[in-house]
Amino acid sequence: GSYIKLSKAGANYRALCPFHSEKKPSFFVSPSRQTWHCFGGCGTGGDIFKFVMQIEGVEFGDALRILAQRAGVELKPVSKELKTERNRLYEICELACRFFEKQLEGSRGQEVKKYLSERGISEESLKKWRLGYSPDTWQGLSDFLASRGYKKEEIEKAGLASRSDQGSFYDRFRGRIIFPIFDLNSQVIGFGARVFGEKSKTEVAKYINTPATLLYDKSRVLYGLNGAKVSVRKNDNCVLVEGYTDVILAHQAGYENVVATSGTALTPFQLRIL
Ligand code: ZN
Repeated sequence: GSYIKLSKAGANYRALCPFHSEKKPSFFVSPSRQTWHCFGGCGTGGDIFKFVMQIEGVEFGDALRILAQRAGVELKPVSKELKTERNRLYEICELACRFFEKQLEGSRGQEVKKYLSERGISEESLKKWRLGYSPDTWQGLSDFLASRGYKKEEIEKAGLASRSDQGSFYDRFRGRIIFPIFDLNSQVIGFGARVFGEKSKTEVAKYINTPATLLYDKSRVLYGLNGAKVSVRKNDNCVLVEGYTDVILAHQAGYENVVATSGTALTPFQLRIL
C-alpha cells in the first residue's frame, strides 16, 4: 500500500499494475496467500520480496533489508567480513548523520537551531528531516568514525573525508548546516551542507554536497522523495522545487508531494524515477 493504491476486492486487493501500463486494474494481492499477481499485460507475480525487488530495482538482499527495516526486524550479519562495502557505507552515513544531529545540542548547535527556526523550520521538521551541524574542525567526524572501527579510506569512500596532497585525511563538511539526503527507504546516502556563521562572509561555497559515491549519485536522487512518494502517488502529481528548505517547508505546511533536485539541474534519470 505504500507503493500503489490498493482497493478491496472481496478477499483480495486490486490495483493498477505498477509494472505495465493499464487502464483497468488487473493486479491482485492475496493477503491469505501472501502473494501478488498481475493478470494483465505483464503476468508477473510473486511474494513480498519479489515485489520490492521489482519495484525498487534491487537485489534480494536489499529487498530483505528494506522490509526488515520497515518491520522493525534487526538483521544480524554472520560476520563482519561478509558485509559488503555498500553496507559499510550505509553504516558510515547513518553514524555520521547521528553525529551531526547530536551537534545541535551544543552551544554552536543552539545557534544553528535558532537560525533554522528563523527560517521557519519547526522543531518537528528538524527532527523529521534529521538536520544537523558539522563542527568547524578538521577531524571531528573522521575521528568519531575511526573510533567506531571504520577505516579512513572507507570514510573517504562515503564522501565524508577528503585527502590532502600530503595524503592526510580531513573532514569534508566543516562549520556547516547538514541536510542528510535519503534514498527511497529513508536510508541516509549522502549530505547537503550549507555554510553557517562567519564562514558565510568569506568566499567558501554556500552549498556543498557529498561527491559521487557507491551510494550517492546526485543525478539520480530527488531530495524528499522518501517522504513524498505516498503523497505523489495519491495526488498523481509531484511538485519540484529548488532547495532542501523549500521541500521541508512545503511538507511542514501539509504539501507532501514536493521534492527537489539537489546540487544539479533536473536530469532524465530523475524524471524516470518520478
Ligand atoms: Zn502487469
